[in-house]
Amino acid sequence: MRFTLVGLLLVMLCSSGCTSSNDERTLVIYSARNEQLIKPLIDLYIKTQDPALKIDYITDDASALLVRLEAENKTTQADLLITVDVGNLWQAQQRNLLSPIKSAVLDSMIPKHLRQADNMWFGLSVRARTIVYSTERVDPEQLVTYEDLANSKWHGRLCLRTAKKVYNQSLVASLIANLGEEKTEEIVSGWVNNLATDVFSSDTQVMDAILAGQCDVGVVNTYYFGRLMKEKPDAKLALFWPNQSDRGVHINISGAGVTRFAKNRDDAIAFLEWLAKSDAQRMIADENQEYPANPNVSSANEVAAWGKFKADKLAVELAGKLQKKAIKLMDRVGYH
Ligand code: FE
Repeated sequence: MRFTLVGLLLVMLCSSGCTSSNDERTLVIYSARNEQLIKPLIDLYIKTQDPALKIDYITDDASALLVRLEAENKTTQADLLITVDVGNLWQAQQRNLLSPIKSAVLDSMIPKHLRQADNMWFGLSVRARTIVYSTERVDPEQLVTYEDLANSKWHGRLCLRTAKKVYNQSLVASLIANLGEEKTEEIVSGWVNNLATDVFSSDTQVMDAILAGQCDVGVVNTYYFGRLMKEKPDAKLALFWPNQSDRGVHINISGAGVTRFAKNRDDAIAFLEWLAKSDAQRMIADENQEYPANPNVSSANEVAAWGKFKADKLAVELAGKLQKKAIKLMDRVGYH
């Protein structure tokens, strides 16, 4: 009788103790990707991988999240930062907001050039920044490379988004990495000379300007093209894959890193590992018509329909490392 009572007490202690510690397992995510993408991923993870885990998240602009992480410092509740563009991941790393991740799973699933050399962050999807042109006024035979957009044959025919956008800073940084600063300055200066109009604040406006006849060629991320074609399937626009006989198309990533002061590092890494696997990769890539970062996962049919291309294998991290140089260079040649 005595033993039973003790036993019962132990069971009660353990059950309340054990479940409460399980129930208290919370993963906190700061995400610059929108709720529409994040929420279904979180729901699926909890349902299929870890029903005992609670995941809290907030979504905001990348810059706001970095400011918040910096201000919260050691007291932050955030375990994982998810954002777009290597420029932002680089910023997070530079401001000492991330910590290295040891994971054989991530190492095997995410190619080297899509992650930071010390594993501070990993790419989760790939976005291609390529040439878009008017199918009414441009013969694609005339298109070759990003460099060639500086050729005088495009004088008064080029539209670009502002140099303030990190996407263009990363593109110019990739030119510096591949061609050197001097050559890049010549090229970007040529682009500025060829501009048909002031720069635009979005990729969509660049394509609208081409459709309106203001210019004939531009540079955009392919998912904006995908969005526009969904709305206007008859739009006289097409994508062109430049630099196919040399380094390939400029790519960037969306990605994630574990915060420096993560309280729940284990669950942050486990969730990140799951994000690199096929089900999540398809969801991440397909929601915004991007390409999976894991090369063993295929793209959505609508994305694959834009054609196969050779992508630049340059380590995306270089776009972060050369970001300052790129910004200064663009400023020098009057690309604002
Ligand atoms: Fe975008």
